[in-house]
Amino acid sequence: MYIDSHCHINFPELAERLPQIFEKMAQNRVTHALCVSVDLPDFPQVLELAERHPNVFASVGVHPDYEDTPEPSVEQLVRLADHPKVVAIGETGLDYYRLEGDLEWQRARFRTHIRAARETGKPLIIHTRSASADTIRIMREEGAGSDAGGPAGVMHCFTETLEVAQAAMEQGFYISFSGIVTFKNAKALQEVAQAVPLERMLIETDSPYLAPVPRRGKTNEPGLVMHVGEFLAQLKGVPAEQLAHQTSENFFRLFAAARAQ
Ligand SMILES: [Zn+2]
Ligand SMILES: [Zn+2]
Repeated sequence: MYIDSHCHINFPELAERLPQIFEKMAQNRVTHALCVSVDLPDFPQVLELAERHPNVFASVGVHPDYEDTPEPSVEQLVRLADHPKVVAIGETGLDYYRLEGDLEWQRARFRTHIRAARETGKPLIIHTRSASADTIRIMREEGAGSDAGGPAGVMHCFTETLEVAQAAMEQGFYISFSGIVTFKNAKALQEVAQAVPLERMLIETDSPYLAPVPRRGKTNEPGLVMHVGEFLAQLKGVPAEQLAHQTSENFFRLFAAARAQ
């Protein structure tokens, strides 16, 4: 069994054909999916999906790329996270690639999420792009990691260096690989994946984006996380069954609220 630890099945291109999405998951033995919030207005839809489908979980958070959207407070995130199907806070983090200028608001928003995660004990889903030094620094300053009494979490859709992965793992974080690791030109990332222990690895689609080989360029969906898993198993020289089992085990260890359901 595989688990898609990060998808956006509430986005229109997927939400309008959910029956096929679930059928594909079953075909490919993808048992669960975590549907990740990107802003507050979309959270009710994400939660509704999780309430309606026993094998879908939700998170609550505001993505760093969303500039013109209601800003969350710690109290608000804590209140919205108080639901059995909300297993994580995020996605949050820093993205200096998409946006330019004074991004102090991004860093403030990131700190808000970490504080909410500490208060609820629910793990963080962290997005970082062209901002790894500030991301790791703020994680440390706010005590996001289990080493500092925080709930830790996952560095999602990981595309950074091994040093960044190690700095996150030292804080108790997991590293999640998406379809990007299957791309031909992703040699550096494949080396990182080789060095990340299986016990710290998650897999994801980040669908509808980033479809893995052999579906690169098409609309992605949770069922295709199987291709990410099979690729990583081959890369690490372990049976696909072992990688599937271990990453699923990791998912439930990290998102402990999901295990109870
Ligand atoms: Zn992201
Ligand atoms: Zn995402």
